[in-house]
Amino acid sequence: MSPRLILRAGREARIRGGHPWVYRADVGRLEGTWRPDEAVTVCNATGRALGRGFYNPRPQIVCRLLSHHDEAIDPGFFRRRLEAAWRTRQALGDDGDAFRVVFSEGDRLPGLILDRYADVLVLQALTLGIEQHAARLAELAAEVVGCETVYRRADPTAAAIEGLAGDSGWLVGQGEGEVEIREGPCRFRVAIETGQKTGFYLDQRDNRAAVARHAGGREVLDAFCYTGAFGCWALASGASRVLGLDTSSDACARARAHAEAHGGTDRFEALDANAFDALREFDRAGRRFDLVILDPPPFTRRKTAVEAALRGYKEINLRALTCLRPGGLLATFSCSHHVTSALFEAVCHAAVADVGRPVRLAETFSQARHHPILLAVPETRYLTGLLLEVLE
Ligand code: SAH
Repeated sequence: MSPRLILRAGREARIRGGHPWVYRADVGRLEGTWRPDEAVTVCNATGRALGRGFYNPRPQIVCRLLSHHDEAIDPGFFRRRLEAAWRTRQALGDDGDAFRVVFSEGDRLPGLILDRYADVLVLQALTLGIEQHAARLAELAAEVVGCETVYRRADPTAAAIEGLAGDSGWLVGQGEGEVEIREGPCRFRVAIETGQKTGFYLDQRDNRAAVARHAGGREVLDAFCYTGAFGCWALASGASRVLGLDTSSDACARARAHAEAHGGTDRFEALDANAFDALREFDRAGRRFDLVILDPPPFTRRKTAVEAALRGYKEINLRALTCLRPGGLLATFSCSHHVTSALFEAVCHAAVADVGRPVRLAETFSQARHHPILLAVPETRYLTGLLLEVLE
């Protein structure tokens, strides 16, 4: 019989409601001997099974349920979950060969991220239990998706929280550190070993297409450009000029190379600059644009720092709105988990009020559909955005 994690009385409601997390404070006792690679049965205080997941006493979240049934967590289980995730992606059937295949809790495989970059899969293990099974999961995933190589990208944040020992490296086959991907009309070279996250911001793929629809003939500022993905989509859609900004000089160099490959040699410039300073300077100097894209990194990962994050969002949105010509568009995003769509909209509203220009909400954005949201798990929804139009 698998070890049992018995919750304290009154601590089961969240889990019965479909949420997968057990916090340390929820736990009454552990019966039997746990092993990092063996799922425990999570039970309510009277001993009734609520589901199964891997246990790790080190983080605050000591268990993330993989199933809300008392079923074996074995290769057959993982294969079923991976096949379900793959079917969902196939049903989306859109244009490109790079997208998220498994989004942790969003695909009911908490702790597992799988990104597809052309014929390579990149795997991230974010929990101790999933790390124990990483090699097997990689083999199964390669089979289900039909890829011959799987690279594991270690995540230092998860490693510190969960006590993970595993390093980055090839789990299946041996491929190149750079992969060329296709996204709509664009081609990008993704550095899976050294790039940010697993190499590329796949969560913005749908939004890049949506924003590019408005880019024709416009002068564009892509203020947190990373390797220039939004900018290249804009070039491909006929933008008159694109200026990219990023504090990473490696990202800027890659953005320039990408822009060149999209016929943007004379229309593209990337500056290794802090967007806060640059926006203030543009504002002061009267520099104007027709489309500004603000896709900053998360300004907070902690609930306690939300106020400071909101001040940051207000500042850049206010500057960006000022820098727009009449009829200009601002595509503005937040990927801070604790900043809800409502909070983000309120902060943009406050910036609009300060700028004193008439602004229309033209579109709303969320994360790419390959990053599914579970209604019972609000943490799976983290990316929000607005398209604002400054009326003439
Ligand atoms: N829009 C990009 C992803 C942006 S991720 C895409 O679609 O691929 C956020 C980027 O902001 C990172 O590349 C990071 O290096 C950069 N960054 C972080 N702080 C910054 C700052 N203060 N000014 C400019 N860039 C910054």
